[in-house]
Amino acid sequence: MKFPLALSAFLLLSTQSAMADDHAKSPLTVKPVGEQLHVIYGQGGNIAVSHGKDGLYIIDDQFARLSKDIKKALGDIKTNKAEFVVSTHHHGDHTGGNENFAKEGSHIIAHHNVHQRLEKEHGKNSKFLPVISFGDDMTLHFNNEQANMKHYPHAHTDGDAVIFFTKANVIHTGDIYFNLGGLPFVDVDSGGSVDGIINAVTDILIHADDNTKIIPGHGKVTDKKGLTQYLALMKKAKGIMVKAMAGDKSQADVVAMKPLDVLNLTYSNWLPQERTTKLFYRSLKSKHHH
Ligand SMILES: [Zn+2]
Repeated sequence: MKFPLALSAFLLLSTQSAMADDHAKSPLTVKPVGEQLHVIYGQGGNIAVSHGKDGLYIIDDQFARLSKDIKKALGDIKTNKAEFVVSTHHHGDHTGGNENFAKEGSHIIAHHNVHQRLEKEHGKNSKFLPVISFGDDMTLHFNNEQANMKHYPHAHTDGDAVIFFTKANVIHTGDIYFNLGGLPFVDVDSGGSVDGIINAVTDILIHADDNTKIIPGHGKVTDKKGLTQYLALMKKAKGIMVKAMAGDKSQADVVAMKPLDVLNLTYSNWLPQERTTKLFYRSLKSKHHH
């Protein structure tokens, strides 16, 4: 997501009742999700933790202020030293801890475009940047696991990587998949697109079976059925928008029609229906459907 402040405020609100029960409690929830794999829920994108004979590495690292808690949680699993941090994309609620982890020896890995965007944001010599970047795909042979990182062009952003833990049969989708019951953030300004998300999810589903566990960028771990429902929702929303946009209508006209009303979805404060409609419009309006 692009607005970490608004997002964290939203998440803080939603966790406040839980926190009132126990003030000293960590802001993180750690759950096993597969063989030598854990998921960490917190205040940003979901973290996957691979641990085993070679050590430990993580997918995404939320916000900088959570690094200490994340390291403590990793220590409870195996060791607080993460060999690698894979960034699924450049957004701050997924890469906020990169500098803290890199300073302690973790090697940041991400797609070339993530390197480019983080360099633009943090400067050339920043520790936020990946020290290893890749194009179409890359594989980590670590912990007796084969983790395939695959780039999906113009989906949530232009630098999305999905991680397939082939042995554990677990997939981390990054923000290509928001499992929050609604529509995702299509970051058109960072090269994201509605069609790119639909294409990516369609391909991910080909690699999933009935036992696959799917870690979304946000929301609870789910399965092939959950992701299939999300794909259907995305296709439905696209169809509604394309129909509403027919006749070369302006963005203002389409927004005023409230075409997404029929889906009866709930929206968060940082991504209300109007903004979602605008992003879908801009994506579907552009020549290459980006
Ligand atoms: Zn994001």
